[in-house]
Amino acid sequence: EDALSPLAEPEDRDVEATLRPKRLSEFVGQARVREQLELVLEGAMRRGAPPDHVLLSGPPGLGKTSLSMIIAAELGSAIRITSGPALERAGDLAAMLSNLVEGDVLFIDEIHRIARPAEEMLYLAMEDFRVDVVVGKGPGATSIPLDIAPFTLVGATTRSGVLTGPLRDRFGFTAHMEFYEPHELEQVLARSATILGVDLRPDGAVEIARRSRGTPRIANRLLRRVRDYAEVRANGAVTVDVARAALEVYDVDELGLDRLDRAVLNALVKSFGGGPVGISTLAVAVGEESTTVEEVCEPYLVRAGMLARTPRGRVATATAWAHLGLQAPSDAPG
Ligand code: ADP
Repeated sequence: EDALSPLAEPEDRDVEATLRPKRLSEFVGQARVREQLELVLEGAMRRGAPPDHVLLSGPPGLGKTSLSMIIAAELGSAIRITSGPALERAGDLAAMLSNLVEGDVLFIDEIHRIARPAEEMLYLAMEDFRVDVVVGKGPGATSIPLDIAPFTLVGATTRSGVLTGPLRDRFGFTAHMEFYEPHELEQVLARSATILGVDLRPDGAVEIARRSRGTPRIANRLLRRVRDYAEVRANGAVTVDVARAALEVYDVDELGLDRLDRAVLNALVKSFGGGPVGISTLAVAVGEESTTVEEVCEPYLVRAGMLARTPRGRVATATAWAHLGLQAPSDAPG
């Protein structure tokens, strides 16, 4: 049970569908990305052609899937959804591509995890709207070129840095999603409270937003936990006192750090004297994959001013020492 995990839990799925913003105008925050995307979509619609392929990059729970659906909705197009890990065999991708209708949006989540043969098929599909279907095996195999309908690929990745150059180059537009500011999360919460019929008071929203790790998915999840508490132990209104008491029960950190964030900081400070230490060593110390530490955990710790990246490795800041209730050494960065 980790109320602060930015990854989607099974319990999130149904409610997330009802809470997802449906249009760009409902999408809170990410002002820069919204403006850029508006121009990309409007320009394409005026030309009457599908827009360039779009890459959405950023940590989990920040709205990449929602944005892909919004792109389709704004274009008035249908969306097909798949993910990198699901496209293990190029044949699966070929089937999807050849079923596309002109103007469709194809969303590939976790596109950095796509298998190599499928990735290579994607190059030609993105560039020339063609697929080469291989028929037969061994020396007798032939490849048949097949035209597919012009479409827009929307790829989502937690790490654009690990995409191969040829794949990255085929996206006409890359949107970098940032963690949300507390006041933006307050807007997300107010909107969700209206949809769910929760009596969320402004001071309650401030408290939840501050402890949501900059992530709308977490804000929405904490709202549901706090709502339960408000209904069972109070009169239903989510005030600051109710929010605090509820978040205490769920062991939610004052600053919104989750269990893994805290484990990483603890290891960094207690086992490695505050660093510098390499990411893979740190990952082993907390028993996690180093990609998870790097893609899910580190971005928020850096953003929260707890961890600094240096050429020699990761270092805990004075803020991190203080958050763990410890005295920082004099050379800890500020
Ligand atoms: P990702 O694909 O980046 O992991 P999602 O698009 O699945 O993130 O977003 C998770 C949930 O957070 C959505 O169901 C939605 O309710 C909420 N959400 C994300 N971004 C926003 C936003 N900008 N405005 C309002 N709600 C949002």
